[in-house]
Amino acid sequence: MSAEPVVNGSQGGTVLLVEDEHSIGSMTRGYLERSGWRVVWVRSGEEALAELGRHQVRIVILDIRLPGIDGFDVARLVRARSDVPILMLTARDEEPDRVAGLELGADDYLTKPFSPRELVARMKAVLRRTDGRSAEDVLALDDVVLNRQAREVAVDGRTVELTTKEFDLLATLLANPGIVVSRDQLLDRVWGMTYPGGTRTVDVHVAQLRRKLGRPELIRTVRGAGYKTIRP
Ligand code: CA
Repeated sequence: MSAEPVVNGSQGGTVLLVEDEHSIGSMTRGYLERSGWRVVWVRSGEEALAELGRHQVRIVILDIRLPGIDGFDVARLVRARSDVPILMLTARDEEPDRVAGLELGADDYLTKPFSPRELVARMKAVLRRTDGRSAEDVLALDDVVLNRQAREVAVDGRTVELTTKEFDLLATLLANPGIVVSRDQLLDRVWGMTYPGGTRTVDVHVAQLRRKLGRPELIRTVRGAGYKTIRP
């Protein structure tokens, strides 16, 4: 079975956790790691900015009250150089904090205290919404070319009509060339939900995609794992 990591999957990838409170930081890190994320945990904004340049960070979890520069400054400085999604942690009922954070470019906030499960749900929602924000507009593999902006797909220069879900499915697979994406991840990212038995929907849409593209070898089934496109 392939052991290739799903770098861009809804789970997996690196979380930059900026939290100076030990109990919250340690609980959050533990839960995220058990859920399949790689966690870089720092206690200050200065460290966060340094670490951001060292890793391919998928999302930043950012506390507002920090020693040294605060979370607002961190959000502003991160946003000045990157489109990485930011989820801010605010104290209870600090409405002005939330508004300020969102104005500075944070994508969402979560009020303390929160459960780790809540955090992961919110992270996924943010990732779904921001996915593709900094992604390339044109994805190509072999003679299949997908244009996100125009929402057009062409095979060998010939336009292929796809449904919305088929298009999003192909975009997700093409954005991860050579990497296995599981059915659950595809459900989550294309349909925005996870439900038992729902993965059959993914199989049906993949079959339709293969037929419409006329390139059955482009999307491989990896038994027990999911789907992947051939590496270019
Ligand atoms: Ca704090």
